[in-house]
Amino acid sequence: MTLSGKTAVITGSNSGIGLGVARELARAGANVVLNSFTDRDEDHKLAADMEAEFGVVVRYIAADMSKGEDCRALIEKAGACDILVNNAGIQHVSPIEDFPTVKWDAIIAINMSSAFHTTAAALPMMRKAGWGRVVNIASAHGLTASPYKGAYVAAKHGVVGFTKVTALETAKEDITCNAICPGYVHTPLVDAQIPDTAKKYNMTEEEAIEKVILERQPSKQFATVEQIGGTAVFLCSDAAAQITGTTISVDGGWTAL
Ligand code: NAD
Repeated sequence: MTLSGKTAVITGSNSGIGLGVARELARAGANVVLNSFTDRDEDHKLAADMEAEFGVVVRYIAADMSKGEDCRALIEKAGACDILVNNAGIQHVSPIEDFPTVKWDAIIAINMSSAFHTTAAALPMMRKAGWGRVVNIASAHGLTASPYKGAYVAAKHGVVGFTKVTALETAKEDITCNAICPGYVHTPLVDAQIPDTAKKYNMTEEEAIEKVILERQPSKQFATVEQIGGTAVFLCSDAAAQITGTTISVDGGWTAL
């Protein structure tokens, strides 16, 4: 399977799943645009190191996915966008009545509305190229719910809905749009939840991972960023050309329960 000659833009890709997806797309031959809201030397070094490792063109473009104009500017600066992976995301856990509005707005903007802005900017480029693949990183929380994750669950359900709309608007062209719904993947986003979870249940961090965090994941294992990346590569392949408007769960059985 080769994505040689294709340009992939992955939002929120200087760590975790986004970086894992970017690395698997580069391994498959795609040129890659990495992104986050920071503009540090280490972000650009990440791109240079990946370029040396995979022998493809890798750039880093800073853009804040909480801002519509930045989302569109990212795609414009990329100059080409055959593969768009909407991955940037943040999380906040709080009961509805205490949920800070500023957190709600940020989660909806970064996790959901950014996909609208980047997709709107990328579709004309895909149409011109006569080929395109949009992969939205949703979540098991795009198909199910948990208490205290109101904004995250709402945003991820929104991403799943928007995935279907994008697929319908592009169905007659060689453009597909699908969502990957990961269960728990061991990334900085999940790492940040472990100490609080352990404290809340008066457990060690190891017990918190096993008994609380992976409680809903029947495999009792984290998915890896390489597995999410491999799924994205599959969705970009010819074998997946008729797969559009759907979700692929990579969740160790979570949504089968
Ligand atoms: P992470 O914290 O490692 O990665 C989040 C990425 O988004 C980082 O690169 C960060 O820099 C970037 N980001 C945050 N705010 C941004 C902004 N304003 N503009 C641009 N980039 C921004 O977390 P992750 O676990 O890799 O999460 C990646 C995606 O996967 C998210 O959408 C998350 O909801 C989803 N997801 C994660 C899990 C999991 O268990 N880790 C499960 C399901 C879905």
